[in-house]
Amino acid sequence: MQTVYNTYSLEKESFSPIEKGKVRMYLCGPTVYNYIHIGNARSSVAFDTIRKYLTWRGYDVTFVSNFTDLGDKVIAQGKKEGLTEAEVADKYADAFLADAAALHIAPATVRPRATYYMKEMVAFVEQLLAQGQAYEVNGDVYFKTNQFKDYAVLSHQNMAELKKNAAGRLEGEDQEEKHEATDFALWKREDRPGVTAWPSPWGPGRPGWHLECSVMIDALLGETIDIHAGGIDLAFPHHTNELAQSVSFHDRPFVNYWLHNGFVNVNDEKMSKSLGNFVTIHDLLADDRIDPQGLRYFLVKTHYRRPVAYSRERLDQAQQEVDKIYRTMRSLAKQAGSEGVVDPRVQEQVTLQNERFIAAMDDDFNVENALTVIFEALTLANRSMQEGASAATALLLQKQLTEWLHIFGLDDFEEKRALPDGAKALLEKRAAARSAKDFEESDRLRDELKTMGLLVKDDRDGQSVEWL
Ligand SMILES: [Zn+2]
Repeated sequence: MQTVYNTYSLEKESFSPIEKGKVRMYLCGPTVYNYIHIGNARSSVAFDTIRKYLTWRGYDVTFVSNFTDLGDKVIAQGKKEGLTEAEVADKYADAFLADAAALHIAPATVRPRATYYMKEMVAFVEQLLAQGQAYEVNGDVYFKTNQFKDYAVLSHQNMAELKKNAAGRLEGEDQEEKHEATDFALWKREDRPGVTAWPSPWGPGRPGWHLECSVMIDALLGETIDIHAGGIDLAFPHHTNELAQSVSFHDRPFVNYWLHNGFVNVNDEKMSKSLGNFVTIHDLLADDRIDPQGLRYFLVKTHYRRPVAYSRERLDQAQQEVDKIYRTMRSLAKQAGSEGVVDPRVQEQVTLQNERFIAAMDDDFNVENALTVIFEALTLANRSMQEGASAATALLLQKQLTEWLHIFGLDDFEEKRALPDGAKALLEKRAAARSAKDFEESDRLRDELKTMGLLVKDDRDGQSVEWL
């Protein structure tokens, strides 16, 4: 039985999609006003892995993830860079897609932008007003949280607590206009000069952030979806508000499984601009000593609900595991072919390993257990090759491992990192020493390269180098 942990019930539940064989999945995407940080990337990577696993299990997955391309952050960044809001959104949407591609995140089935759905958003608000579930004050429209009895469920707090906390944060206009402190804006009046506003029956304005996701889900995936995903910080208020307004709108269930990923801590502290430990994917990928697939693997090797502790040292440790995968996969690629027969003992072990891989991933995507199986299969592959496995046996192992590794975003097995400083010069010196048959010097240089984490091998074509 396949199970997923539902934040709504706080339990692992049996997974059964609305329509047999199909999964409708939505992930809250980034506000495109800056380069994404490692926490945003973790969410994208975790749910890309889940999507790929579900696809591998035979589901037809429709995966929608949005760009929030409006709002105060986009406006402020535009002022900083001398760009229009649309230019800011385009620039950072492109940057996100480039980062996502580098991390082997598959393109979404649809990647909607909030500004393309303004008509639908206005209609959504009009209907909530008509149903008496919202109210308008001075061009702002608020959702009436009191009329939605399950409002607090997803937040796992009680309504009194939520009201008390919200009341503590109320200030300015909100204080005067809101009937209840927990009420949230569906539509905000916008009359500042030079700021984009959209027409509505309540005057020029823009939608609230929560409304965007509800409307795009409705437009692209339907009234009720299987999986709604995002970072755990989105469970309240963002998803709580999405849920309240969507259920009120349709009077139908909105989401069957709420999946949330854990935080990323940087150097054992919460990541924040003020601590100066804000790590962007753009900066990490600009470093040619970092392998994008290694970064992907680092983010995915921790179970999606647990926190990831980032440090450069831990990233480098994860890279060693990736290098091990590369080495074995390259050896398999050299040996794999159709000749010979498949070793039945290897076949049997691979079949058992695949069953264990499925059992691990079916258990709320237990990647740690799934990776244990992968590393056992790599050991099996290396042992089989040492024992002179047939080309057909190598091919079987290669195929199985390729399928599993694809789920984790590992798709090609060439080294991508730049060599350490000075390594290239040492390699040239060593090649020269070998040509001059100075084997003592060439061995000394090989050992020196080893201290840099590089393994030099010699064969007929000359020397080649691998990361240890
Ligand atoms: Zn959302």
